[in-house]
Amino acid sequence: MLELKDICKDYRQDKLVIPVLKNISFEMEEGEYVAVMGPSGSGKTTLMNIIGCLDQATSGTYLFDGEDMGSCTENRMSDIRLSKIGFIFQNFELLPRQSAIDNVSLPLIYKGMPKNDRKDLASSALERVGLSDRVNFKPTQLSGGQKQRVAIARAMVNHPKILLADEPTGALDSTSGSQIMELFQKLNEEGISILMITHDQQIASYADRKIEIKDGVLSRKEGTVL
Ligand code: ADP
Ligand code: MG
Repeated sequence: MLELKDICKDYRQDKLVIPVLKNISFEMEEGEYVAVMGPSGSGKTTLMNIIGCLDQATSGTYLFDGEDMGSCTENRMSDIRLSKIGFIFQNFELLPRQSAIDNVSLPLIYKGMPKNDRKDLASSALERVGLSDRVNFKPTQLSGGQKQRVAIARAMVNHPKILLADEPTGALDSTSGSQIMELFQKLNEEGISILMITHDQQIASYADRKIEIKDGVLSRKEGTVL
């Protein structure tokens, strides 16, 4: 599903080259659930942006679902994001003035789907995350955990192959965080692959496998396989 080989990412500030990811090699099979841990500034989000086809590596090869992302056009990357990847962020990234169902419908609008089909799919996605009774609520009328569930419904509405989650419980209390982890577990059991960034040891323990990134270098967590 994912195959990274010697991935490097440099940022340039004026004449200075700042290496952020250093020769990262990593594979993930379809259906796996992997947690990426590491201190702040270690390169987790940078790695996630490359894996999520939001950015390209400076060097190395990255195959997503068998396709070489290094030689992809912007358009192809955006198609892949829309059809194969679901994104979850720490701060939900919902449109504040739109209802839950309109937020979940957004990726379907980008796909050009007719309105009635969008409504059906979006409401069944909200049902899947246990929010049938909140379809017309706006984000301000929802708790943190409910907002994250709307974001998960939006991420799942196009039936992606993989969920990429960057600190999905970072803004939640521990009870809502555990509920989000139970939902991830259910989705993973239904067959979706999950790659999740987290600081939290307990949250990471929900995954099948943990990897660690420190100062741009990837290693396996003790007692696990890379
Ligand atoms: P993490 O998510 O692990 O906290 P990031 O991937 O966000 O880390 O950042 C890793 C390093 O890359 C940091 O030192 C950060 O300052 C640097 N960095 C991230 N994005 C940029 C950018 N667009 N331009 C320059 N430096 C960046
Ligand atoms: Mg980050």
